[in-house]
Amino acid sequence: MKPDFEKGNGLVPAIVQDAKTKSVLMLAYVNEEAYDKMLETGETYFYSRSRQELWHKGETSGHFQYIQGMYLDCDDDTLLIIVDQVGAACHTGSYSCFFQEIIPYVFEKTIFHEVYDVIADRHIHPVEKSYTNYLLDQGVDKICKKVGEEASETIIAAKNNNKEELIGEISDLFYHVLVLMYQQGIQVEDIEKKLQERHQISGNKKEFHQRGDY
Ligand code: AMP
Ligand code: ZN
Ligand code: ZN
Ligand code: ZN
Repeated sequence: MKPDFEKGNGLVPAIVQDAKTKSVLMLAYVNEEAYDKMLETGETYFYSRSRQELWHKGETSGHFQYIQGMYLDCDDDTLLIIVDQVGAACHTGSYSCFFQEIIPYVFEKTIFHEVYDVIADRHIHPVEKSYTNYLLDQGVDKICKKVGEEASETIIAAKNNNKEELIGEISDLFYHVLVLMYQQGIQVEDIEKKLQERHQISGNKKEFHQRGDY
């Protein structure tokens, strides 16, 4: 079983999917040489049609893709490659290449995503008297100060044994952390990915609670 390279004049398209988030990351073309290199190394290789050469994804950016699975479609002319993505898949720095909305589709989002997106929207379209705009205008020092305050209030609420108060303070804390993330250019997916990674490490019995570096 092997792609039918003849069919596409030496190239087959490959869809690259993130193993953790399941997002479609990019599409690129694979020739026989790239295909063999992938089986040999476990990292993605493509054929760059613009540069007309073998292309090891990540060779200049460091954004390598470690292959976790590979599938061939029904008629042998398309590959699906499932990867662990380091950094961003797209050379623009975007996590996925597919960020240009033609017919936008709203994926079901968690409340963390929804709040994050509102924060981003406030930044792009400021609203008068918006607390989010106030924080973003004040900058990193103010945002960090608020994160610290809300963390302290969370601790106090926990010690007061007051569950309602604690839920409120944790919500305040999460909101301010989301503002900080946005201000620092960190996306909700970055955190989801890191948590997944650590979750998997713990699943592999590398003892989550023994890690000292978080
Ligand atoms: P990289 O393989 O990430 O080190 O990037 C090397 C070069 O490959 C970039 O400068 C781009 O020309 C191209 N490239 C990287 N990633 C993509 C992508 N997802 N789609 C199209 N071209 C890419
Ligand atoms: Zn096909
Ligand atoms: Zn791209
Ligand atoms: Zn608070």
